[in-house]
Amino acid sequence: MKLKKPLLLPVLALIAALAVLVTTYVMAARKASNDISEASERQLQIIALDLESVLQKFETLPFALGFQSDVLQALAHPDDRQNIQNLNQALQLIQRQSKVVAIFMLDRSGMTLASSNWDSSTSFVGRDFGFRPYFREAIKGNPGRFYGIGNTTNIPGYFLAQPIYASAAEHGDKTVLGVMAIKIDLTEFEHTWRSSEEPITLVDSSGVVFLSNRPAWKYHSLYSLDGQVQQNLAGTHQYADQAITPVSSLPKPQRAEFGQHVTRNIGRLGWQLMLFPSQARIARIALLWTMAAALLLAIAAISLWAVYQRRRRLEERLTSAEYLDRTIAQRTQELMVANHTLEAKYAKLQETEHLLRSTQNKLIQAGKLAMLGQMAAGIAHELNQPLAAIRAFADNAITFLSREQRDKAAENLGHISNASARMGKIVGQLNGFSRKSHEAVAVIDLSKSIEAAALLLSNEFQTHGASLRIDIREEAQVVGDSVRTEQVLINLLRNALDAVDNAGQKNVSLELERDAGDAVIRIRDSGPGIPAQVALHLFEPFFTTKPSGKGLGLGLAISSSIVQAMNGRLTANNHSEGGAEFVLRIPLLETLDKTMEA
Ligand code: ADP
Repeated sequence: MKLKKPLLLPVLALIAALAVLVTTYVMAARKASNDISEASERQLQIIALDLESVLQKFETLPFALGFQSDVLQALAHPDDRQNIQNLNQALQLIQRQSKVVAIFMLDRSGMTLASSNWDSSTSFVGRDFGFRPYFREAIKGNPGRFYGIGNTTNIPGYFLAQPIYASAAEHGDKTVLGVMAIKIDLTEFEHTWRSSEEPITLVDSSGVVFLSNRPAWKYHSLYSLDGQVQQNLAGTHQYADQAITPVSSLPKPQRAEFGQHVTRNIGRLGWQLMLFPSQARIARIALLWTMAAALLLAIAAISLWAVYQRRRRLEERLTSAEYLDRTIAQRTQELMVANHTLEAKYAKLQETEHLLRSTQNKLIQAGKLAMLGQMAAGIAHELNQPLAAIRAFADNAITFLSREQRDKAAENLGHISNASARMGKIVGQLNGFSRKSHEAVAVIDLSKSIEAAALLLSNEFQTHGASLRIDIREEAQVVGDSVRTEQVLINLLRNALDAVDNAGQKNVSLELERDAGDAVIRIRDSGPGIPAQVALHLFEPFFTTKPSGKGLGLGLAISSSIVQAMNGRLTANNHSEGGAEFVLRIPLLETLDKTMEA
């Protein structure tokens, strides 16, 4: 199976961590084992010194005691009860002082003649220890040493024996008369060893444990003993009659610690002092080190993780910054493109606008032409009628003249004169379009212009039965052409007269006042007013609702252009009380002066 990439690293790290931990454990265990071995070695040395000093201390005691006169006396006269008693008491006294277990004296056969424990129930006196190895050695003239369980007391002890000679002289009698022996208690050591966690044992030359702070191990051998050795042990009654089985036969928990050990030779009997370093302690120390290593690894891992996270966040921030930069660059690019497009569109728009403007100009031109055409058609129409009439009247006049009917011919010529007068009037109206005035621009008193216009029209108003009321509220002076101003007023008043012609009441009024720097003239009638669709085209040339011959539709168009030439305005509206109202606004002379001054 192939591991996924993100899994591979943690798994490798875990394996590495495990390897580190195992190595740590093994190395720590080895180190602990070495350390503990060294410590054990030192501990063993101290214990050994202690033991050796005790064994050494009493080495010469039996030898020294052998020279007591009582001793020699007792050996020479074993039946001297008094002497034996004296010796018993002396030995007891010395035993108590020297703190040994027992001091006793044997004759050449191994029979106990005197003993420090003469008065106890387990007295050695009268007992035969001829079979004991220490006696056998001593009787041969050598120091006898032996460890074993006492035959009488059942208490284990170290036996030290020395031969007793007849004389102490250096070159004296070398015959051995008896043996002086002491028994030392070594179990004291077991008590001191109990404070030690590790098993400590004293093993004899045959490999039998005879002293230990592990009671279960006592009188067991390190290995299986062969028959010969077993026999020897039985012969000397060294460990009473206990069967010596190997430690390995012990129940498991009791032999669990039995394994690696440090050892040291003790005394002169081939003993071995052994210390079994605690495997559990080694394991504990190794485990402690491993845990410390694990902690360190964990700290390292956490730190690494933190550093990694920090780096990743930094990278993320960096990439987001890069992303931002890229986005900004992209947006900028897009904006630039959009800008270009806009510029292109704007250029196109300008082009279009230019085109439109030129088209508009052309259209205006065309409109002017159209207006001219319309105008020409209107003029042609207006002039055609009287022209046709003139022709007809002229034909008639010719006919009547040929028939010599002069009256009739004269009548027709009169008609021709009338018709041509009308034609003249039309042409005169057209003159109004011409901007150029023959009269110079002058200051006009509007009230005078109004009076002149009213006077000119008074006859017409009378014949139509209409009233004209003039109300000059304020005098007003303006600048312009007085004839044309009169023409405007006449146009407006005549239109009002036409409007009231068929109305029930035939009232026309004219007011003059000043308002906001203007001269204002209001011409109001009681006619039907201006219909909405008429209002839209009111100031267009040739727009008329009047029958042919009556109106040319030029009056308001010309009037408006005249007023505009004077920087004024002409507007029309229907009065709230009925009828039309035309309002004429022309800047006052004073206002013009002021603006000129300004
Ligand atoms: P014309 O008088 O030759 O028709 P105008 O330009 O003077 O030409 O007037 C145009 C039209 O305006 C008239 O045909 C009429 O319909 C309307 N009009 C002018 N004055 C009035 C008025 N006082 N009341 C109602 N309608 C009017």
